[in-house]
Amino acid sequence: MKLILLGPPGAGKGTQAKMLMDRFRIPQVSTGDILRAAVANRTAMGLKAKEYMDAGALVPDEVVIGIVRDRLQESDCVLGFILDGFPRTVPQADALREVLAGLGKDLDAVVSLEVDADVLVERLTGRRTCGGCGRGFHVRFDPPGVAGVCDACGGVLIQRDDDREETIRQRLQVYGAQTSPLVDYYRRQELLRTVDGMAPMDEVQRQILHCLSVQ
Ligand code: AMP
Repeated sequence: MKLILLGPPGAGKGTQAKMLMDRFRIPQVSTGDILRAAVANRTAMGLKAKEYMDAGALVPDEVVIGIVRDRLQESDCVLGFILDGFPRTVPQADALREVLAGLGKDLDAVVSLEVDADVLVERLTGRRTCGGCGRGFHVRFDPPGVAGVCDACGGVLIQRDDDREETIRQRLQVYGAQTSPLVDYYRRQELLRTVDGMAPMDEVQRQILHCLSVQ
């Protein structure tokens, strides 16, 4: 299964990708996660990318295309992958097409998660992640037992730097201008499936499996 999860920040791509990863035993390839790891490791690429990420802007195409090109050639991607947060621009989508053609592979589907903008802001501002085990929480929709502390490992819950309100507005604007054209791009290629991303998590997963013709 070779899939793209498309949708604005906060649409639930990461959550759904993890559920699909368990179901199909294929990796989630999240450019956001790869970039955050590079930032945490203070690599040259990470330090440069951080400036764009903190501003709510997109990291230059050639950087993320290079990341994905390398990642898709790793052995765990042989049977498939779930792209989460890539592509985000038309040049990235064109580059992905070339990379996959070079590997003799085709996409099976592009699933677009649709969520209203005001819901996205509420989801993103309340999002917290455990600094220890990486588990996600939400201050309102999925709060931990003790505020600021991970239920699973007792780690400290942190807010992503780019999940602050001003940056969120910028990220949503960037999505509208640079990423949303991909909906038509993939519709024209007859790969697009749309799912109501406002439904509860399990229902969204059910709809995704349904549109992939897997129950
Ligand atoms: P995400 O976790 O997918 O919301 O990504 C966090 C940030 O990483 C984005 O706001 C961008 O700055 C950067 N980023 C992630 N994926 C891409 C991409 N495909 N193209 C450009 N920038 C990206």
